[in-house]
Amino acid sequence: RKRIVSGVQPTGSIHLGNYLGAIKNWIDLQNTCETLFFIVDLHAITLPYEGHKLSKATKDTAALYLACGVDPSKASVFVQSHVRAHVELMWLLSSATPIGWLNRMIQFKEKSQKEGNENVGVALLTYPVLMASDILLYQSDLVPVGEDQKQHLELTREIAERVNYLYGGRKWKKLGGRGGAIFKVPEALIPPTGARVMSLTDGLSKMSKSAPSDQSRINLLDSKDVSINISVNLVLLLEFDNPERPECNNLLSVYQLITSKSKQEVLEECKDMNWGSFKPLLTDALIDHLHPIQVSLPLCLAAIQERYAEITSDPSYLDGVLADGASKAASIADATVNNVYQAMGFLRR
Ligand code: ATP
Ligand code: MG
Repeated sequence: RKRIVSGVQPTGSIHLGNYLGAIKNWIDLQNTCETLFFIVDLHAITLPYEGHKLSKATKDTAALYLACGVDPSKASVFVQSHVRAHVELMWLLSSATPIGWLNRMIQFKEKSQKEGNENVGVALLTYPVLMASDILLYQSDLVPVGEDQKQHLELTREIAERVNYLYGGRKWKKLGGRGGAIFKVPEALIPPTGARVMSLTDGLSKMSKSAPSDQSRINLLDSKDVSINISVNLVLLLEFDNPERPECNNLLSVYQLITSKSKQEVLEECKDMNWGSFKPLLTDALIDHLHPIQVSLPLCLAAIQERYAEITSDPSYLDGVLADGASKAASIADATVNNVYQAMGFLRR
């Protein structure tokens, strides 16, 4: 069976982009693959954050995984910081990662610019190495992520290949090392649609948990009367593919995706509409028809919210799931990290 890992940061409320880009795909994969889904809390401290909110956000994110259909009897669900090997392996990988590779990361450039370059923590630069550790620790085959993580996945592959070359290759074997590949080189699994849901207020940026405005996203826990207040020209007709009106393109794509219609059908249906007439259509579709297309289980926002309430009503249940998930994960992760220590030449304990 293929092994799959993926995670979401507890940096805020899970939104439609996280769901369509990542979580929705986990639900199918857990039936056919060995899956590990974690809450990547160590990544949530790369930008200034509020400490007193972190542990609750971590638990809320875990509860939402389950509410979306992640089944702990099939998948290991755990908190990243509960498995110490993540940080340990990161250090080992750091020594094999040139700074130049990290300086190229688009997300670092974007996020550090927003924060003001002088003040950003080192972790914002090095967090892709932690992400590589998250993935390589489990010898993963596939990593389901949204489009924005493609570059980080590519970096993970490069780090894996470099470590394999430096410490697993023939040259090292001659010097007394173990030889043979240390890491499996993983691949990104990016969905054909929904991989980049855009912000509702700025059609040029992706929808993000950390964006300051709640108006910019549709959170999975938004109240049933989803209100979409966006800056769209109210009079002009809607149109696809006009580079000057990215917000239109984005809203029509979201509509297309959640109704499983073709682009042609949406064009036909909406060609004479302006935002005023389209808004109720989109809102209703979001409320009623948000369901994973190939999953038999009918999921909609209301169902996710109902299950979320049920799961959070018994906190000990969730604690049990997370403890169980962490111990399963640790058994795989510890074996990998021990192997890497050995391959890199450290004195055995
Ligand atoms: P933050 O703003 O804190 O970075 P985020 O919304 O980008 O939050 P992450 O926790 O960084 O969410 O990412 C979790 C998963 O969701 C990743 O696989 C990521 O690729 C995916 N994802 C994030 N935003 C979108 C989006 N707008 N469309 C599709 N997938 C997305
Ligand atoms: Mg992100």
